[in-house]
Amino acid sequence: MPTRKNIAILGSTGSIGQNSLEVIRNSPDRFAATYLTANTNIDLLEQQVRIFHPRGVVVSEEGRAATLRKRVDSSVEVLSGADGLVRVVTRDDVDIVISSLVGFAGLRPTVAAIQHRKRIALANKETLVVAGGLITSLVKEFGVELLPIDSEHSAILQCLAGEDRSLATRLILTASGGPFLNTPAESFATLTVENALVHPNWKMGNKITIDSATLMNKGLEVIEAHWLFGLPAERIQVVIHPQSIIHSMVEFVDGSIKAQLGVPDMKIPIQYALSYPERWPMNGARVDFPALRSMTFFEPDRAKFRCLDLAYDALSLGGTAPAILNAANEMAVSAFLQRRISFEKIPVVIERALSLHKTHSNPDLQDIIEADRQVRVFAGTLL
Ligand code: MG
Repeated sequence: MPTRKNIAILGSTGSIGQNSLEVIRNSPDRFAATYLTANTNIDLLEQQVRIFHPRGVVVSEEGRAATLRKRVDSSVEVLSGADGLVRVVTRDDVDIVISSLVGFAGLRPTVAAIQHRKRIALANKETLVVAGGLITSLVKEFGVELLPIDSEHSAILQCLAGEDRSLATRLILTASGGPFLNTPAESFATLTVENALVHPNWKMGNKITIDSATLMNKGLEVIEAHWLFGLPAERIQVVIHPQSIIHSMVEFVDGSIKAQLGVPDMKIPIQYALSYPERWPMNGARVDFPALRSMTFFEPDRAKFRCLDLAYDALSLGGTAPAILNAANEMAVSAFLQRRISFEKIPVVIERALSLHKTHSNPDLQDIIEADRQVRVFAGTLL
């Protein structure tokens, strides 16, 4: 009988959060959903409380917390705000924190969880993008395991299992190409939010779906891969693979390449982050090669999808540049979703923020928070 692990899910009502609860539900003797948190969706959170019986939940603001308190059993603690998130992830009865908040908001609770020596299963890539240097040094200092849930990085981790990591010479991140892979650049000015929210292979939240449509998601993943696996930008390559069956690959010193394949199902990388270094059974669809017939690969169109190179630029600038990139992107994506700017304006906003803001080298947490704040104010003037 394995020891049961207590899990706190930050963002349990989002796409990763709901998939994580499925994984927990499939292994009730291995996992308990001890704390759940949601931004605004208290109706779904209430349902999750009734099914999973967590000890506590957190919602973003106190008004919603008060409403939820009336609806759930009084034994369930209901907290609110960023402080509530930090309180639950630092509790003694938490073994693993699944960090699946969207954007910069994931940074502070993730830092707090590392400082309290929790295993981190990280879906919130923005945390590593904005604070990769800080997070990797905290991970070392506190001796914790930081395991990626992002499917590409989980694939790389699986390819590296049993290998000497210093013998990896190239990471090859695959990208579906998003909904506009074959859309001519001339049409970008008139693309709608509805066009952008249709992802060909993955069902995800709005922010990451727009990031996939601009290829910024892949750019953020290049930065994430750099911090997780320690390879420089020039050894991290992006290749378009529209079928999303190969989730990423690693090349070694002898030219051998290992790839991890599977149907696009986030439950696989989520469970691997929880079970690592073990691999556990999971039911679900399997890759059917004869039905698939072919897998194809292309160079990304960097002129059409400028966000990809902006992310490479931010990584090579270093310091707070990735935090600047991220803040400008979050602002631009949010403005696009609110129909305040066009799709083609997203990289324009990011490029201006990167060119006008001075990068602070070796930033600490406060420097990163300040860079993020300043860029949001600046980007607000462009939108
Ligand atoms: Mg990914």
